[in-house]
Amino acid sequence: MLDIQNFIDGAFTHALDGESIDDYNPATAQRIATIPRSKFADVELAVTAAQSAQSTWSALTFEQRAQWLDRIADALEEKTEDIARTESMDTGKPIELARRVDAARSVSNFRFFASFGRQQTEMTFEMEDAMNYVHRTPVGTVGLITPWNLPLYLLTWKVAPALLMGNTIIAKPSEITPLTANLLAETLLELELPNGVFNLVHGLGPEVGQALLEHPKVKAISFTGGTETGRIVARTAAPMFKKLSLELGGKNATIILKDADLDNAVDGAVRAAFSNSGQVCLCGSRIFIDSSIAEQFTQRFVEKVNAIQIGDPMDERTTMGSVISPEHLLKVESYIDLAIEEGGTVLTGGTREMTGFNGPQGVGAFLRPTVVENLPHTSRCATEEIFGPMVTLHSFTTETEALEMVNSSEYGLAGSVWTTDLERGRMFSEKMDTGIVWVNTWLHRDLRTPFGGVKNSGVGREGGQWSLDFFSEMTNVCIKNPDSN
Ligand code: NAD
Repeated sequence: MLDIQNFIDGAFTHALDGESIDDYNPATAQRIATIPRSKFADVELAVTAAQSAQSTWSALTFEQRAQWLDRIADALEEKTEDIARTESMDTGKPIELARRVDAARSVSNFRFFASFGRQQTEMTFEMEDAMNYVHRTPVGTVGLITPWNLPLYLLTWKVAPALLMGNTIIAKPSEITPLTANLLAETLLELELPNGVFNLVHGLGPEVGQALLEHPKVKAISFTGGTETGRIVARTAAPMFKKLSLELGGKNATIILKDADLDNAVDGAVRAAFSNSGQVCLCGSRIFIDSSIAEQFTQRFVEKVNAIQIGDPMDERTTMGSVISPEHLLKVESYIDLAIEEGGTVLTGGTREMTGFNGPQGVGAFLRPTVVENLPHTSRCATEEIFGPMVTLHSFTTETEALEMVNSSEYGLAGSVWTTDLERGRMFSEKMDTGIVWVNTWLHRDLRTPFGGVKNSGVGREGGQWSLDFFSEMTNVCIKNPDSN
């Protein structure tokens, strides 16, 4: 049992009122840690620490801060195995996935922003009689609020550019998955990052998260989480004129056009649907298939889904672990019941038994990957974000019809299109109302590209230049040429 503490002003400390919350391993149902149940007073301490560290941190040169990012990346890389095991234990995801995705990406987030930052050149705009340049300053103390599905991956995606641009940080990770944020804090302490530059407060969203949103000295909020929470974040922070970045929910489409390479499309659609037990905001949970190949695709898709090894997350051969919690398991199961009520046919899954390797059968929050067909694309199961191992299949006869179905969603985060005709893939992608489209691939990321959604999937973009812009203020300095008077 770990006794996790807040990290404020370079020191670990319990919540001021001593209250705590339990943290569980969803694959074993075991209590693995307690974390502080922080409140406004704890945020106040963190803000004071961050504010007093601000001038020292922002006085470093850009290159010095980039070197810090490299140092953090190296230190995290050395802890790859520790990160992977901790993340797997806290989320129930397979150790192999945690190592390959969560740990690796946490390292590359720091390395990427260090190197991308170094390539920046000053923006200048020449006029006939004057020159303009853009001077960047840090926003100040920023609040970073993150979800449970990719805990360290998504936190470091914000921490790296925020540090690079000279800000001080108060991070609030999900109360369900606090452990790797703690590991990051331990790493920063070992590296002797100046006190107060990075602060971590644990606790419940409506308590400590809300306190962070409301604190007048927190100048920007970068939030990743659900759409409903995003509404609360916007409602609280927008009237205070805080900078806001909102990365919210998704209900992404996978579109299989009639000329798709079926091997690739089936592999890609399964990966898009069920990676991390379907708990990635980018997961393709609605699959639209050209009716001329629907039968063939569906048969192969279900075969491939049945080959997923669901079992003990610590077993290297496991390809799907548990979902995040028993409560979430019940939520996903309620959608399976609803699918049946709505007239859907469950082609595979829908039950709790494991098909893979040893695991704590009957204890953990395991659910077999579930495939449902025969539901209208307007049904609740095909329109609401379920965020679990469940997909719905729909067929279409024309691409116009497919586009209408895809774009009828209130979400617009991502999607993938599968076709051997790349021009057709481009045409289709450009008509989709989403922030990201992959053609013949899924979650293939270049960290320089804009990441984010439209409609109810969010406001703003992260990645490359967009992250640097969010975490800095820009002053246009216009200097008139004295000779031109
Ligand atoms: P959530 O919205 O419940 O929680 C996200 C974070 O917000 C947590 O740290 C939580 O404690 C905090 N929070 C909750 N209420 C708050 C409040 N009133 N004020 C401040 N903070 C508050 O989301 P979740 O269940 O942790 O994560 C799943 C959701 O995240 C899904 O909808 C998924 O699509 C989304 N997500 C989006 C992206 C993206 O990049 N667009 C990435 C990953 C996850």
